[in-house]
Amino acid sequence: MMWNRNEQTICAISTPHGVGGIAVIRVSGPQALSISGRICKRLSKSLSNEETLQSHFQSHRAYFSEIHDLKGQKIDEAVVTYFAHGKSFTGEEVIEISCHGSPYITGQILDQLVQAGAKIAEPGEFTYRAFMNNKLDLVQAESVLSLIESRNKSAAKVALRQLEGHVSKEVEELISDLTWCLAHIEASIDFIEQGIEVVDTSELIHKLEKINGTLEKLLQSYESGRLIKDGIKVALLGEPNVGKSSLLNLLLQNDKAIVTPIAGTTRDVIDGEIIFDGMKYIISDTAGLRETQDEVEIIGIDRSRQEAEKADLLCFVFDATEKEWQRSLQMATEIQNSKKIFLLNKSDTVSADELYRIQDEISMSLGLSGAQEILATSAREATSRSHIFAAIKSAVGQFDYLDEAVISSSRQFEQAQYSFEMISKSVDELKNKTGAEFVALYLKEALLSLQKILGQVYDDQIMDRVFKEFCLGK
Ligand code: GDP
Ligand code: ZN
Repeated sequence: MMWNRNEQTICAISTPHGVGGIAVIRVSGPQALSISGRICKRLSKSLSNEETLQSHFQSHRAYFSEIHDLKGQKIDEAVVTYFAHGKSFTGEEVIEISCHGSPYITGQILDQLVQAGAKIAEPGEFTYRAFMNNKLDLVQAESVLSLIESRNKSAAKVALRQLEGHVSKEVEELISDLTWCLAHIEASIDFIEQGIEVVDTSELIHKLEKINGTLEKLLQSYESGRLIKDGIKVALLGEPNVGKSSLLNLLLQNDKAIVTPIAGTTRDVIDGEIIFDGMKYIISDTAGLRETQDEVEIIGIDRSRQEAEKADLLCFVFDATEKEWQRSLQMATEIQNSKKIFLLNKSDTVSADELYRIQDEISMSLGLSGAQEILATSAREATSRSHIFAAIKSAVGQFDYLDEAVISSSRQFEQAQYSFEMISKSVDELKNKTGAEFVALYLKEALLSLQKILGQVYDDQIMDRVFKEFCLGK
């Protein structure tokens, strides 16, 4: 898909397509001013001389202008903002035309810009140019997309930190440390035959392990980063009638799931999304765990198992009015490698003593540390809502370090992961005192991988992966 980095000026509508109060058309490239000048009255005033045109307008200033077509027919009245070469988002000369948000008007203006010599931008091309002009590294380019797509406070915060360069700075430091290690190893290859030891192996190992420590933290941040960006997927599981649908309604604050006193009412997975305290949750209510003869219900139960596998967290619901929890307990222990929380619902129906006794019993059967591991809830009490969200959030991960570097793209994760593995290998080689050649080989790979994260080294595949997700006008 690679665009040539040529001298062409590009244009696109940068606001959502459709009707709006205003729409912004972005023009970027060496001829942004002169091309826009052909349809903006205000800009064309001094068009006779290129020198005066640039000097006539001040960067970052907005000018009111009439917009007309190339034949002089008026299209709209607009505010035109000029960004000088080197001072814009893309690094190129940029004109932003804020016109009235009618698709007819924006269509007309784009048409005229193209006739005047501009090219319609490809999706992501503005950000691509910003990257090519060293205005952004690849992590920052990805964060532009995350920021545009962020739908909750935490996701926006993580994206903004990336755009500011927190991840980039950390990776740059790693690159610099790793380069030092590689240089010393390579020097030792040359001198080793002469019996000169240029590098203290233990110091090298220490440095490499430190690099990997930082990488490990970054890798761990990915899980949280992903959850923040995509939302935490929670599956409610439990016997029919324990109150899953009621709890779903409480959490989502609606009546999406049907609640009836007949066991087995929820036959299929019903889910909903909600933002609570800046975090996004995707919660699904599943058919009960009960074995059944009913074919529709069997499908539902199958689906609920699949749903459980996709979830980030399983929320097992027990019923305080029941005496038997065998099947739920069995399922809770059967499913391994998943994060789980346990709710004892309908807590409003039993005494505090009884509640505690049941919590203790369930916790014992599950091999947990005590009654406090089983959260007492009631779908009929509003306070349960925040308690459940808090329990989900703390069971799923650490979200208090949002101020630190958090990676949130699988591309960044894979490259950091590879780098980590290569460094581990080289540390092993150093400890085993095998040849420095191998160590150098692994370290080169590790370094390359880190450079790819920032886009210091890139190929078509990387660029495709980053920019193919962008939409038009970004
Ligand atoms: P599901 O089959 O697990 O989805 O259970 P439902 O949500 O359909 O609830 C079954 C029955 O239990 C309904 O009559 C609900 O009103 C009732 N119920 C659910 N949660 C509570 C609760 O916390 N307290 C009380 N007293 N009743 C509840
Ligand atoms: Zn239900």
